[in-house]
Amino acid sequence: MSDYHFETDAIRNQTERSQFSEHSTPLYLTSSFVFDDAEEMRASFAEEKQRNLYSRFSNPNTTEFVDKIVKMEGAEAGYAFATGMSAVFSTFGALLNAGDHIVSCRSVFGSTHSMFTKYLPKWNIETSYFKINETEKIESLIQPNTKVLYAETPTNPGVDIIDLELLGEIAKKHNLLLIIDNCFATPYLQNPIKFGADLVIHSATKLIDGQGRVLGGVTVGSEDLIREIYLFSRNTGPAMSPFNAWVLSKSLETLSIRVEKHCENAMKVAEFLEDNATVNFVKYPFLKSHPQYEVAKKQMRLGGNIVAFEIKGGIEAGRAFLNKIKMCSLSANLGDTRSIVTHPASTTHASLSEEDRLEVGITDGLVRVSVGLEHVDDIIADLKQALQ
Ligand SMILES: *Cc1c(COP(=O)(O)O)cnc(C)c1O
Repeated sequence: MSDYHFETDAIRNQTERSQFSEHSTPLYLTSSFVFDDAEEMRASFAEEKQRNLYSRFSNPNTTEFVDKIVKMEGAEAGYAFATGMSAVFSTFGALLNAGDHIVSCRSVFGSTHSMFTKYLPKWNIETSYFKINETEKIESLIQPNTKVLYAETPTNPGVDIIDLELLGEIAKKHNLLLIIDNCFATPYLQNPIKFGADLVIHSATKLIDGQGRVLGGVTVGSEDLIREIYLFSRNTGPAMSPFNAWVLSKSLETLSIRVEKHCENAMKVAEFLEDNATVNFVKYPFLKSHPQYEVAKKQMRLGGNIVAFEIKGGIEAGRAFLNKIKMCSLSANLGDTRSIVTHPASTTHASLSEEDRLEVGITDGLVRVSVGLEHVDDIIADLKQALQ
């Protein structure tokens, strides 16, 4: 662990300066690295010497980015991927064997759900699900071949909270690997390793970049688990590009102040919606009315930037609301400087049956707002005119 505070590491944890004494870390756009002689090359490949060989394995820019996330999450090691999904898939690919079993929360990111239902079963890896309000059932889902306990919190798009301390206890008792997708919280708001997680995954595409420019992913955890993930990944090739790592490492320098402001704006948006007569309910982790408010307070620094609410009038009202939005973007992304509004029932989750949608908390009138960094009065004014 570092002696510095979060904000300081985010800025000062930097690749060594080159002979040009640059202040900001330069971009190392190189696919490979050269050796002085045969002996250096041999020692490097034998890993007797720690250095960059080839950018699929490591690169100064990806190393800088990974080291920052490792410190922020209180982990030992990490590896950076081209996307959040390549981080999720490679983590499972590296650690699971044919016939293993996963216990996961039901509301996971759409592509993660596809991985569980469509792709991992090819290797005879099956997944059992628990619903948010059924955490007492988790232990009954564990089988002799269960290897991983997996969850996202806050969840998408319902903004539910799962108790990380509880998951940590269950994982320890049953000797499972606890893997948490910490994307919605960012390393600034929540550190699952403190609660017993073995591995933490981020899609860096969201709040870590925070400006809608690049894709990226990262997995951090213990030295030995990351070693397996690293070896799997260096051979199968999902590495993050040095350019994206350079952008993302710069983004981390401002993560804390951006996320603070995102959360401040989101809280005001949530309070506005709670007082609006056209809204049935609002879900925001730091609103007292949130069903898991106490758990959110225990494990998160602030409530995040995602607000979910149910508009009165179902699917039609949801679609009409989207059509009246003037400033906010209609987009499937989240965690951008620009506020983004989505209506899951008619867009991202339209292919699910109503029953399946309800199981993950997506009612017909549910709207998800990724609150951005515009002036909060302008965000609220846009939502207000669209609700009328
Ligand atoms: C976006 C997202 C992912 C996937 O990340 P990509 O960078 O788009 O591949 C995984 N998990 C969560 C919770 C996400 O929001």
